[in-house]
Amino acid sequence: MALNLFGDTSANDHLPPILEEELSDEQVLKEAHKLKAELKDKMLILGHHYQQDDVIGFADVKGDSLKLAQDAANIDVPYIVFCGVHFMAETADILTPPDKKVILPDLRAGCSMADMADRSQIDKAWGFLTTATTEKIVPVTYINCAATLKSFVGEKGGSICTSSNAEKIIDWALEEGEKLLFFPDQHLGRNTCFKMGIPLEDMVVYDPNKFNGGLTPEQVQKAKVILWYGYCSVHQGFTAEQVRNLKKERPEVKVIVHPECNFDVVQEAHEAGSTAYIINRVRELPAGSKIAIGTEINLVNRLNHEFPDKEIFSLSPYQCLCTTMYRVRPRWLLASFRAIKDDKPINIIKVDEVTARGARLALDKMLSLS
Ligand code: SF4
Repeated sequence: MALNLFGDTSANDHLPPILEEELSDEQVLKEAHKLKAELKDKMLILGHHYQQDDVIGFADVKGDSLKLAQDAANIDVPYIVFCGVHFMAETADILTPPDKKVILPDLRAGCSMADMADRSQIDKAWGFLTTATTEKIVPVTYINCAATLKSFVGEKGGSICTSSNAEKIIDWALEEGEKLLFFPDQHLGRNTCFKMGIPLEDMVVYDPNKFNGGLTPEQVQKAKVILWYGYCSVHQGFTAEQVRNLKKERPEVKVIVHPECNFDVVQEAHEAGSTAYIINRVRELPAGSKIAIGTEINLVNRLNHEFPDKEIFSLSPYQCLCTTMYRVRPRWLLASFRAIKDDKPINIIKVDEVTARGARLALDKMLSLS
């Protein structure tokens, strides 16, 4: 249960904590930075690369999902303030000892992809798939999902993956069993499996909104990979046409996209890789390089500022913004810091022990394979 700024619970738990007085943005930033310095022995601030600049400026550690999960596991202060989305804060809670508290500054910061699969749907799908075939199915979930799904994977002997280690984890899963069930992001699953040499004909899509996922038992028996019908709405903003037009009009530009993009976008792009991969490639490419990037706009803009000797821009002319990441604001950070200072922490993310146990198995599997 989360506590609000005043330390009690209410029907408005999902709302950001409300500051007690009117403060300008400048006042908020000034006080929040002052409190951050004061509380340095009490809290660690983790920030995902998709956070806005004013928020990422507070982060002690910046990273993608894999790095933040690894760092959360080694924390030695009482509080983690997680500037990211709900599933990331849950992951941090699962990996940290019970006496550490994980705080999500705005409880509404969710993930539209994570919302595309829930535990009852996965249980139902598993029932159908394991009846349809006698071959062993190994489940792998992208880290972008609720703790209950991570727990499912742990219970069934599977693993979690991130976009940085998906290939390694899928490779392991297909050595463990004959078939892979990959959820919730069909695109990361399809793009990674195809890159590993699995033809598209060996993949089917399970749509939880259809009877038996829209599949027949014969289709399940024939398939090597069963992909869940889920996607990231932010990365659907990039199209193969954008890549083709850019390559035609500006052949000197290198196009790098995230594997949450559609298959045809990834095929048309020069390179595809995780957030960490994109950052490393931008760093490595020589001065004067021109790079179009297909991922969340806050990261693209930040790279553009950090590497002024290169021309870096978004592949899409539209703002591909993760609006749920964007919910975390300096104002909500300030409310969280004040509450920590008063020893009345708010917006605590706590995963129940049964769920956490199963999820930990799957996370440990991932971390040991990474
Ligand atoms: S960018 Fe997409 S996958 Fe990542 S948190 Fe936002 S909605 Fe979820």
